[in-house]
Amino acid sequence: MQKERVIVIGSGPAGLTAAIYAARATLNPLVIVGNQLGGQISITAEVENYPGFPDPDLTGPELVERMVKQAERFGSRLVYDEVSEVDFSKGSPFYLKTNSQEYAAEAVIVTAGASPRRLGVPGEDDFIGRGVSFCATCDGFFFRGKDVVVVGGGDSALEEGLFLTKFANKVSIIHRRDELRAGPALTRRALNNEKIEFIWDTVVDEVVGNGMVSAVETTNTKSAERKQLETNGVFIYIGHYPNSKFLEGHLAMDEHGYLITDEKMRTSVPGIFAAGEIQDSMYRQIATSVGQGCAAAMQCEKWLSERE
Ligand code: NAP
Repeated sequence: MQKERVIVIGSGPAGLTAAIYAARATLNPLVIVGNQLGGQISITAEVENYPGFPDPDLTGPELVERMVKQAERFGSRLVYDEVSEVDFSKGSPFYLKTNSQEYAAEAVIVTAGASPRRLGVPGEDDFIGRGVSFCATCDGFFFRGKDVVVVGGGDSALEEGLFLTKFANKVSIIHRRDELRAGPALTRRALNNEKIEFIWDTVVDEVVGNGMVSAVETTNTKSAERKQLETNGVFIYIGHYPNSKFLEGHLAMDEHGYLITDEKMRTSVPGIFAAGEIQDSMYRQIATSVGQGCAAAMQCEKWLSERE
């Protein structure tokens, strides 16, 4: 059993910020990275709205690299592992199990984030890596000169759709309504991009192909008309769900699985704090996750020093 003062679960903007603050408070935090260093920003093509980075060419992976460097500079340690089980039942120290190690931590900051939601239609899972993708940054390059579809009508769908225009011949954005959820700036850019076509009031029923994706079957929600649209790639951006399954029965959560926290980022168990998208279904910005991670680490430090 490895004993730790503070364990941060997750390594997105909330987790890495919590690590920076906890490390600067000499708590020597251990960050258990999870399945993706950097979380969702590591698969974000362009970051345009994080303050202090005015140039248009800041990528998600570059921002992750900078945050990791800063966290490590103050003494945070990162382990590339995933928490599979927890036992918070007896209070501090809290027990965590990963694939390769068992830990006891005096305090825990949970920043396990959220994952892309899936359509749940036939073919979607079968063609992941063979035309179906949740990451334009990772896979866009493979669609040079090809036709792709993007599913969704929010900021992510438009942002990543715009990114895909750098490679693809044509980007068809399929949205289930006739009004976008995305904000005005991205909406304007997408509507004015001549490589982007919008297919309104339409849902994808099936992804089809033979080895690789060749088309999507769609239904118009107003006319019930079914169509097959030929395409080489399907990029799905229809929102997220919190990565909180491993915490079920251990921490209070809402009906969608988001952890319940108070204004001090405290969860239902004293000594366990949470920040970022695992507890925030509303803002979900890098800037807000960073702020929440900072607050969680500050409260964690206060809680630990009050116990001494
Ligand atoms: P989102 O805002 O929840 O949008 C999800 C989109 O997918 C919606 O248009 C929704 O349709 C559609 N959708 C949901 N389930 C669907 C299904 N089963 N089939 C078909 N379509 C479905 O998610 P997001 O775009 O990932 O954004 C998440 C948060 O991050 C937001 O707060 C957003 O502002 C933020 N974000 C910001 C930026 C930026 O500021 N540059 C970039 C990316 C993300 P309906 O509209 O009909 O519900």
